[in-house]
Amino acid sequence: MEYILETEALDKKYKQFKAIDDLNMHIPKGAIYGLIGKNGAGKTTLIRLICGLQKPTSGKYMIYGIPNTDKQITKVRKRIGAIVETPAIRIDATAEDNLKEQYKILGLPSLDNLKDILKLVGLSETGKKKARNFSLGMKQRLGIAIALVGEPDFLILDEPINGLDPEGIIEIRELILRLNKEKGITFLISSHYLDELSKIATHYGFLNKGKIIQEISKKKLEENCRKRIEVKVNNMKECIYYLEENKLSYEIKNNGKINIYDMINISEFVVALSKRNCIIEEFNEKEESLENYYMNLIGGGSNV
Ligand code: ATP
Repeated sequence: MEYILETEALDKKYKQFKAIDDLNMHIPKGAIYGLIGKNGAGKTTLIRLICGLQKPTSGKYMIYGIPNTDKQITKVRKRIGAIVETPAIRIDATAEDNLKEQYKILGLPSLDNLKDILKLVGLSETGKKKARNFSLGMKQRLGIAIALVGEPDFLILDEPINGLDPEGIIEIRELILRLNKEKGITFLISSHYLDELSKIATHYGFLNKGKIIQEISKKKLEENCRKRIEVKVNNMKECIYYLEENKLSYEIKNNGKINIYDMINISEFVVALSKRNCIIEEFNEKEESLENYYMNLIGGGSNV
């Protein structure tokens, strides 16, 4: 798999405190990667490291395969657009003037894509309105527009949904999806709510106390949370024969239990198994919300 960003045993210490601790993460090309962690988990510190605003204490990271210790890293970073903490916008200027300033900062001679970018983020109709009179969602979209000026293929957004009203949240989500699909931009988005990102993220990294405690694809996460029947039997072989014969969807877990994902008639199932000398020792119906899954994970609870 091709990764846009990889970290290996990344550490960032403030005196004796490890804000980032032996952190390993992998962002596949084309992904919308949700970095989920509560306040103080280390999201902003990690983003600041990747953007080159701070130096790691030890360990390394690679952007497009180039290690942070390589001289080429500065060049490669030009392919990244980022909003760290609050968007870097001038509130006394219009959306267009904010963008023009960014073209100047990046030393881009022509304003070729300016109108396209404003249209893309839904700000082409704001005319002479100064950014100070924008809603929070509009300011956030202007921040993204500024980050788009250098035509990045990797966008890093630190808590882009924080403080937005429901309408603003929808606008930002739709914009991210559009940029991902139409422009092929890979995203790293931090948030402290899993549910907020669950409508767009393709991959997740759960951050707790400076460590990525789990990296998981959307598909796998949904599988882990979906409704299932969990059984423990005294005769695994016979139980599996039964499930195979009846073409039922199941999975054998590491803890010796079997998850059955299809709806079954429980009494028929018990009788059929007992005819095969297979006794059910444990039986549980399970379903988990995404937020619950995350809370169990950071609380160290079971998520199997
Ligand atoms: P939030 O959502 O609250 O911004 P976060 O996940 O982004 O949280 P960070 O801002 O990365 O967390 O902070 C991680 C930890 O590192 C926190 O305990 C914070 O107090 C600590 N920290 C961050 N910057 C510094 C610093 N310059 N000096 C000392 N400690 C720091």
